[in-house]
Amino acid sequence: MNATNQPCLDQFGFCFDNSYSKLPEVLFTPSNPKQFENPSLVIFNSHLASELGLNVDSLKTADWACFSGRKIPDGADPIAQAYAGHQFGRFANLGDGRAILLGEHIAPNSKRLDIQLKGCGPTPYSRSGDGLAGLGPMLREYLISEAMHALGVPTTRGLAVMLTGDVIYRVEPLNGAVLTRVAASHVRVGTFQYAAAIENIDALKALADYTIIRHYPAMENHPQPYIGLLEAVIDAQASLIAKWMRFGFIHGVMNTDNMSVAGETIDYGPCAFMNAYSPKTVFSSIDTNGRYAFGNQPMIGEWNLTRFAESLLSVLAETHEDAIDIATKFLNQYQTKYRDYWLCEMRKKIGLFNDEPSDLVLVEDLLMLMYKHQADYTNTFRNLANPSRLNTALIADGGFKNWQILWKGRLSRQSQLAEEVTALMDSNNPLLIPRNHIVEQVLGAAHQGDMEPFYDFLEALSKPYQMPKNERYLQGPSASFDESYQTFCGT
Ligand code: AMP
Ligand code: MG
Repeated sequence: MNATNQPCLDQFGFCFDNSYSKLPEVLFTPSNPKQFENPSLVIFNSHLASELGLNVDSLKTADWACFSGRKIPDGADPIAQAYAGHQFGRFANLGDGRAILLGEHIAPNSKRLDIQLKGCGPTPYSRSGDGLAGLGPMLREYLISEAMHALGVPTTRGLAVMLTGDVIYRVEPLNGAVLTRVAASHVRVGTFQYAAAIENIDALKALADYTIIRHYPAMENHPQPYIGLLEAVIDAQASLIAKWMRFGFIHGVMNTDNMSVAGETIDYGPCAFMNAYSPKTVFSSIDTNGRYAFGNQPMIGEWNLTRFAESLLSVLAETHEDAIDIATKFLNQYQTKYRDYWLCEMRKKIGLFNDEPSDLVLVEDLLMLMYKHQADYTNTFRNLANPSRLNTALIADGGFKNWQILWKGRLSRQSQLAEEVTALMDSNNPLLIPRNHIVEQVLGAAHQGDMEPFYDFLEALSKPYQMPKNERYLQGPSASFDESYQTFCGT
C-alpha cells in the first residue's frame, strides 16, 4: 500500500496513476517503446528506488526489463507528449521524439512523479530522428542530474541507464542506451506554447488547470488562478536560475522546450560547469553566438517566461489588451525576484546572515576581481577565508586586499561567531562539482566498458560538501582546457 492507501498495482512496486493521459488527446499520442533484443543494466539508482518504494529484488529478477521498455509495468500507460518550443529563438513544433512517458508513479510519500524512458525508439514526434540515444549522453545526464540533486538544485533525476544492445549511428557508431528519468512532471513552457499555437483553448485551459493542481495547488484559491500560475512559474524559474548561478552551472540549451514549468532543471544536453569565472563562458558546440552563455541565463529565463506568458494570453483576461497588461505587470517583477534570489544565494556564499544595502556591490566587486584574474569560481568561494589556497594573481591584487578589508568589516557587523560564518560558507560553497575534464574521463572509460571511474565519481559527487577520498576530484583542469572544451547535444 502507498501513503494514499491505494494498493500498488505492480510486482515491481510501481504504483501508476496516470493523470496526463486523461488530458485532451491533442496533448499526447499513445506510443510504445522499441523492443530491444539484448538490453543490459549499466547503472541503477538504489537510493532513488528506495525513495520511490520500488521492489529492487523483483526488478532484478526481471533483468531490469522495465528500464529498457521490454516490460511495461502494470498500470503504466505509455505516451509521447506533444510540445513546441523556441530553439535558439526560433519557434518549432517538437514533442517527445525519443522519449516515452510510462506514467505517473505515486511514491510512498504521496509525491506524483513522472517515469520516463529516454532513447527508447521513435515516436510520432520523431520527425527525421531515430528516437535513440547514445550511452555517453545518457550517462552524462544521469551523472550531472544526480550531482545537481546533491548540490540542492531542483532537478529531474536518473533512476537507471540500460544499454540497448544495439549500435546507433551518429558521427561515429555508439552504443545505444535508455535513461529512465524521474521528474516532478514533463510539462514544459513549450507544452503551453504548443496548446496556444494550435489555438485549442480547451486544451490550453485543461493544461493550465492540470499544472495548477499538480504543481501549484495553492493557486487554486487564487482569485484568478491562471494569473496565479504565471506568477508561480516566474517565481520558480527565478529561484532555479539563481541556484544555477550559485554553482556556475551552464545549462547550454535553454530553449523553451527545455524549461519545466515545475521549476526543475531538465534536459541535460550540452550542459557544463564553469571553471574560471567569466559570464561569457559557453561550452556548447552549437551555441556559436553565446546566446546561452553563463551570464545570459537570467535574461534568457525572462525571455522564455515571456513566451510562457504569451501562450497564456487568451486565458489571462477578457480582452487581449488587459491580458498583455497583466502579463507585463508580472513579467516586470522577474528581474527583482531573480536579483533577490541570487543575492540571497550569494550572501550565504560569503558568509552573510543578514542584509545590508551594500551587499550587492560587495558581491559584484568580488566577481569583477575573479573575472580579472580568471579565478576558479568554485574554489575561490570555498577558499575565501584561506588566502593561501586562492589564485596567486588574485591575492596579489591591491583591489582584492581592499575587498577583504570591506568583507571583514561587513562580517564584523553581524552577530554570528567566526565558526558560524565558516559553517554557513562551507555548506553553501561545494568542494566538489562535476568538473568537465573528469566528466569526460569517466565517460571515456565507460565508453571502453569500464564503469568503475564513473561509479567512483558519482559516489563522490553525492557528497559535494565533504572532502572526497580521491582529492584529484577537487582540482580544476589544466590552464588551457576550457579554451578548447566543447559539449554536444548528444542527439
Ligand atoms: P533536445 O535537444 O534533447 O531537447 O531535443 C529537442 C527535440 O528534438 C525534442 O523534440 C526531441 O524529442 C527531439 N530529438 C532529439 N534527439 C532525437 C532523436 N535522436 N530522434 C528523434 N527526436 C529527437
Ligand atoms: Mg529537450
